[in-house]
Amino acid sequence: MVAPNPSPTPVSTPTPTPTWGTWEELEREALGCVKCPLATAGRTQVVFGVGSRDADLVFVGEGPGSEEDKQGIPFVGRAGQLLTRLIEGIGMTRDEVYIANVVKCRPPGNRDPQPEEISACRPYLEAQLGFLDPKVLITLGNFATKLLLETKAGITKIRGQEFTVSLGSSGAQQVLVPTLHPAAVLRNGGAALAQTRADFIVAKRALARAR
Ligand code: URA
Ligand code: SF4
Repeated sequence: MVAPNPSPTPVSTPTPTPTWGTWEELEREALGCVKCPLATAGRTQVVFGVGSRDADLVFVGEGPGSEEDKQGIPFVGRAGQLLTRLIEGIGMTRDEVYIANVVKCRPPGNRDPQPEEISACRPYLEAQLGFLDPKVLITLGNFATKLLLETKAGITKIRGQEFTVSLGSSGAQQVLVPTLHPAAVLRNGGAALAQTRADFIVAKRALARAR
């Protein structure tokens, strides 16, 4: 007699990806999140994201700074004002795009987010992108670019190029265009600003094609 086949034992159990039924559930959970050290490192509040739930264009930054932490809104400090002007420079407004960050709580003293903080926060960003299902993404700086493209390539090497990704829930493809972080543009001035403007135009054209 042949013994019934035992069910195969997986070699390693993948970490289950948390799923949220609705955007509201996702937001509620994120706003109360204490899953990484940034929860107790001096944040005022979780900065979930801002903009249109129907956005075709989504921006992903690094993490809240002090002004964002105070107001609970991404990109409202100096770098944010530059981002707003860059968005307006391609004929759009902040209201019609969506803006989120890799980590949703302020790293103390504006230090870099640590790998374990990025991993802990990642499901929220992935779920946001899943619900938003944009046509084009612009990653602002190294942290967002490395996370969403799963690359080690530095931002100055790959900025302004179009990458095809599938980060939404529909399985559709999106174009991802990495660019410099606006805070880096503020530090580095003229040439960096010109490069970033050019990258925004690449994204704008991709958006026009996708629409
Ligand atoms: N820098 C970021 O990466 N995100 C913000 O929200 C503000 C500044
Ligand atoms: Fe939670 Fe993200 Fe804030 Fe860490 S940074 S506490 S994972 S919301």
